Amino acid sequence: MDRAANLERLRRETFDLLVIGGGITGCGIALDAVSRGLKTALVERGDFACGTSSKSSKLIHGGLRYLKQLQFKVTLEASREKARLKRLAPHLIEDVPFLLPLWSRAARPLVGSGLWIYDAAAGFPRGLVHRHVRARAALEMAPALRAEGLRGGYVYYDAKADDCRLVLHVARRAADLGAVLANYVEVVGFLKQGGRISGVRTRDFDIAAAQVVNATGVWCDEVCARDDAAAGARIRPSKGVHLVVPLRRLRLTSAVMLPSPVDGRVVFLIPWGDRALVGTTDTDYSGRLDRPRAEAEDVAYLLDLVNSRLPGVRLTRQDVLSTYAGLRPLLRDDSASPSRAPREHHLFTSPSGLLTITGGKLTTYRLMAREVVDRITRRKSRTHQIELFATDARDPVSRRYGSEACRIGDRTPLVDGLPYVWGEVDHAIEREMALTLSDVLARRTRLALFAEDRGRSLAEPVARRMSARLGWDREEIRRQIDTYERDLDENFPRG
Ligand SMILES: Cc1cc2nc3c(=O)[nH]c(=O)nc-3n(C[C@H](O)[C@H](O)[C@H](O)COP(=O)(O)OP(=O)(O)OC[C@H]3O[C@@H](n4cnc5c(N)ncnc54)[C@H](O)[C@@H]3O)c2cc1C
Repeated sequence: MDRAANLERLRRETFDLLVIGGGITGCGIALDAVSRGLKTALVERGDFACGTSSKSSKLIHGGLRYLKQLQFKVTLEASREKARLKRLAPHLIEDVPFLLPLWSRAARPLVGSGLWIYDAAAGFPRGLVHRHVRARAALEMAPALRAEGLRGGYVYYDAKADDCRLVLHVARRAADLGAVLANYVEVVGFLKQGGRISGVRTRDFDIAAAQVVNATGVWCDEVCARDDAAAGARIRPSKGVHLVVPLRRLRLTSAVMLPSPVDGRVVFLIPWGDRALVGTTDTDYSGRLDRPRAEAEDVAYLLDLVNSRLPGVRLTRQDVLSTYAGLRPLLRDDSASPSRAPREHHLFTSPSGLLTITGGKLTTYRLMAREVVDRITRRKSRTHQIELFATDARDPVSRRYGSEACRIGDRTPLVDGLPYVWGEVDHAIEREMALTLSDVLARRTRLALFAEDRGRSLAEPVARRMSARLGWDREEIRRQIDTYERDLDENFPRG
């Protein structure tokens, strides 16, 4: 992960495969390809995971709700991948019990059968099989639940992981095996020979590659149009918003899956240390792809849903510490609402040979990557056995960095009550290509989401610490802090 050396190699060498996009899909493809012996490069326009891959619900899950839509294949694949990821990165992927409360007796047989199928898809993992609970037990797990008419519920299991850290684990593993990665390199066009793509143009230099893969998520239409101006739009961006609130306000001892009384969608309440994520929404989006944000109506929808199901908590906008919004790269279709649109991933090849992959989930990134690289080489994928810095250690730093935790020296907490330490700032620059203050505060750590003040009080001291390694002068430190403030306003506004 030596960016300067990598830029030099990108300029001079020719690659078997160049991946555009440093989200989970692109990094997954880079890892799969390099581990099959392909000379692999990856470029990302912003920071790694700066797109949808840092804006998810952070669940590694089979997608229980897809069963309701009869999307069995999605659930089966995702459940298997959940189990596999837990073996490859056991420190990062944490099992989470979810309470699914029921206010209707009639729903019980259907939900119960669905959960049997869900557990079967995951191979009935020991100790993690669903069970029915009575109303009293449900209220012990979530005392603020509406008790009137509560018919008990089910407890089932999924898992969660910091999405950015998952991307960085995969990116770093790919780099370890020889992939040449660089962030802040934007692809602006393609090189062609005899009508076939032979590389890409970036803002500053060209990169030669025998095969190019477009893994740019919701931006994939934009990139396809640079290859073929006549290529039509394939993506139907759907916005998903999350709120971050203090866990004590929700009074939960487990995660909860809440059905909306208005439109039947489900919303998750997911504990993250002393905080909880509340989300998500699912609405068609037609604004700027790099500026989705939680609008007042998104926040109101989520607050109303929580307050109708947990009437005791009276959650208000003032309780919302931060919000974030991401865009799902769904395939265009005729469904009336994006919630009903298929969640499968899709591959397309353009006449000039550009391979585009879109859709899918964080959880299924490895399968998507395998399918893409299967189109390029006959050598077999090995990623099912490539560990992602796996460790048994469970201290807070090991949970986030796995076996790499030993490289993090200074364990002084960055802020009370959150697991981030000063040594992560140095590590982010030296080994994870962090180049800006936002890279460190919003993605290498998640202070922008989880700190009481969204990391504002740390902006100056962290920028000073970074300045020593990145050679920033006083003016640059000020510019970084101002940019971070803007980033908070634009991407992580309060409720
Ligand atoms: C609200 C929400 C909740 C979700 N929750 C879950 C969940 O809990 N579990 C789960 O499994 N999945 C979840 N998903 C789905 C999952 O997050 C996405 O499927 C996944 O992150 C998409 O990753 P990606 O790499 O394809 O796209 P992205 O992460 O968006 O990556 C694409 C990258 O391409 C880069 N790029 C664009 N143009 C260029 C260019 N010209 N040159 C170079 N780089 C470029 C962008 O900067 C971006 O970083 C959720 C999605 C949303 C929106």
